[in-house]
Amino acid sequence: MNVLVINCGSSSLKYQVIDSVTEKVEAKGLCERIGIDGVFSYQPAGGDKEESEKPMPTHNEAVSYVIEALTNKDTGVLNSLDEIDCVGHRIVHGGVNLTHSYIIDEDVIKEIEGCSDLAPLHNPAHILGIRACQKLMPNTPMVVVFDTAFQQTMPPKAYLYAIPYKYFEEDKVRKYGFHGTSHMFVSSRALELMGNPEHSKLIVCHLGNGASVSCEVDGKCMENSMGLTPLDGLVMGTRCGDIDPSVVEFLCKKRGYSVEEVLKIFNKESGVLAVSDGMSDFRDIADAASKGNDRAQLALDMFAYRVAKYIGSYAAAMNGVDAICFTAGIGENNGMIRGMICDYLTFLGLELDSEANKVIGEEKLVSTANSSIKVYVIPTNEELAIARETVALIK
Ligand code: ADP
Repeated sequence: MNVLVINCGSSSLKYQVIDSVTEKVEAKGLCERIGIDGVFSYQPAGGDKEESEKPMPTHNEAVSYVIEALTNKDTGVLNSLDEIDCVGHRIVHGGVNLTHSYIIDEDVIKEIEGCSDLAPLHNPAHILGIRACQKLMPNTPMVVVFDTAFQQTMPPKAYLYAIPYKYFEEDKVRKYGFHGTSHMFVSSRALELMGNPEHSKLIVCHLGNGASVSCEVDGKCMENSMGLTPLDGLVMGTRCGDIDPSVVEFLCKKRGYSVEEVLKIFNKESGVLAVSDGMSDFRDIADAASKGNDRAQLALDMFAYRVAKYIGSYAAAMNGVDAICFTAGIGENNGMIRGMICDYLTFLGLELDSEANKVIGEEKLVSTANSSIKVYVIPTNEELAIARETVALIK
């Protein structure tokens, strides 16, 4: 089966075509600046990347260009639209009711619309993408896969906030956790690597520009460091993560900011960007730190310290941990930062293999044979996870 995987933002649309049998990416690309001027890119497997400006007033034009490129007789990977067997859409927020993946129908779309207030930047954009695909491929089955679904197994003691219960019951205020598709993909791969033991306790660190930690008991998610929104938890590229909510009121009063302004600061102007005084890319920060830049070093220290604190608390929450997995941009590519995090955990008997830990972007066991906890680097693949879910449901 050919699965078209769509990840739609308000002004962008990422796509991949994946062969569900070989699990190879046949083509991929990105539509950017939708509603502005429109930039389109397309790359078939083994071929050159093409990029051009194309007018995209709405997501409809973006999806048309995707189909046009995929079926182009010179560079396309499909003969016709009919060769797209199904479409998998990534959706950020499924609220409390959308607890797994679904075949799309009007009821599901209504539910996604219904939790737009929980993800105002994302869910309305996802619906635009779904509608655009439905218009051009009315007979192709489509599936939605939620970033919040994998965390639906968290117990109430983990997902409830200790505030009056009516805000949970009436307003659905609770921890949802995010990056679920990645945590699901990486934790199930780790279990495969461990020989699918009957009982297991895992911690997955998804460390990218957005970053989160999760823990899984017997493959089921028990915790995720993100909260009602993806602002919570770790220190991230531009997000502050955990913070005393009173800071909001304090800054509003002291500086005359609105709540929206403070949240914009927390989301876009904080994290390692703020600590390092201007760098959000961890490659730049690591480079500056190695040249003696104190603020860059502090940003790395704060980042690693927070990750280690989460790992420690999740090890306590599960009363043990068998394996820790690192994934996403930083987790897959930077052994130095993995090392800084693991240095906090030697008291648990964790021992990193410094040679193996030099690995970049590849699956590898990076702990020693004597280590009490296995440490894996496992590249994430959210698109493949979405394609698998899509095919499983369609079949
Ligand atoms: P997102 O999908 O949230 O944008 P990614 O998983 O693509 O995030 O990760 C992006 C981050 O990974 C960037 O901050 C980038 O600097 C970091 N990254 C990529 N390669 C390296 C590396 N070799 N060392 C440190 N950080 C890296």
